[in-house]
Amino acid sequence: MSRAWLIGAGPGDIELMTLKATRALARADVVLVDDLVNPEVLQFARADALVVYVGKRGGHPSTPQAGIVAQMLEHLQAGRSVARLKGGDPFVFGRGGEEQQALHAAGIEVDIINGITAGIAAPAAIGIPVTHRDHAQGVVFVTGHGAGSGEPDWAALVATRMTLVIYMGMQRLNDIVEALLAAGMRADTPCAAIESATRPEQRHVLGHLNGFADDVSRAGLGSPAIVVIGGVASLALAATAAAAANADRAP
Ligand code: SAH
Repeated sequence: MSRAWLIGAGPGDIELMTLKATRALARADVVLVDDLVNPEVLQFARADALVVYVGKRGGHPSTPQAGIVAQMLEHLQAGRSVARLKGGDPFVFGRGGEEQQALHAAGIEVDIINGITAGIAAPAAIGIPVTHRDHAQGVVFVTGHGAGSGEPDWAALVATRMTLVIYMGMQRLNDIVEALLAAGMRADTPCAAIESATRPEQRHVLGHLNGFADDVSRAGLGSPAIVVIGGVASLALAATAAAAANADRAP
């Protein structure tokens, strides 16, 4: 029987992929690979698997969502097992929910295999614990994209006083910072942006809300990046200093 999996490949570092994900990948006849998936994870796929890139980065036009689902259905109905590989977790801003719905509508069961989402991995990569209890009672994962379901209610989010972890926020960072300041968030609120987290090319910028969009653009940081706003971001400084100190001691 053919099977379908929606697999989270994690944030980039292939060692952050789950055992369950690698095992499912090893069984698939067809692998449909999204943007942001580190291609190195394909070492876990079968050598004879058909690998299809459906992402929009790297100069390829993005395959429309309906086209991706159609491809999955075509392979599944022909008796081939399909692994749909997504960056991070398949159900966190990955449109995995839509693909599950479409497959269910076609009467096909799909196994969901979690991945480590960038919103947790990226802060952790520079030492930020997103729920450190001295700083926050919780964390909000929010898209900065502003498309689809519309603009988040930034004022309501400021009122929660929780850590804000913003996905897809780089293009509109200036507007987001302005909205947060207008909603009364303190200008000295610590902020961090982490690009390409857990990959060799990882970079980050630390700062405070006031001027943060300028800091990020001066540093030339772009997508993919996670933005962390809240007191927990202040903990990155110490962690980064510690990491630097350790690097100095390395033989
Ligand atoms: N399903 C993914 C998110 C997809 S939305 C997950 O759970 O992580 C795409 C956004 O994720 C990017 O715009 C960026 O904000 C974030 N992202 C994904 N991988 C990243 C990485 N390695 N470093 C920083 N941000 C990343």
